Amino acid sequence: MGRPGRVRSGDVNLIELQDVIARTYGERDHDRGVASTVAWLAEEFGELAQAVRKGSAAEIEHEFSDVLAWVASLANQVGIDLTTAIDRFQDGCPKCEQLPCEC
Ligand SMILES: [Zn+2]
Repeated sequence: MGRPGRVRSGDVNLIELQDVIARTYGERDHDRGVASTVAWLAEEFGELAQAVRKGSAAEIEHEFSDVLAWVASLANQVGIDLTTAIDRFQDGCPKCEQLPCEC
């Protein structure tokens, strides 16, 4: 068992991700503001792009976790529930409604 309330790896969903990020960084992120969070997210996307291009699998995984954490933080700050947001992909392509996409 990890610390109480800690997200266990292999057991995380988007609700839990947003919750743990809010509890871990919520106050600081709120003080920093949305514009700064967007800037950090953009920087992390850059690091992910670089890792995918020339990093190890561990480095790529690390950068994915940073990007997901910043996405969760931004969603928290602007009041978006990522689980609801991703619902539009639940039945396949939101445009053509096919799975796989036939657009
Ligand atoms: Zn489609």
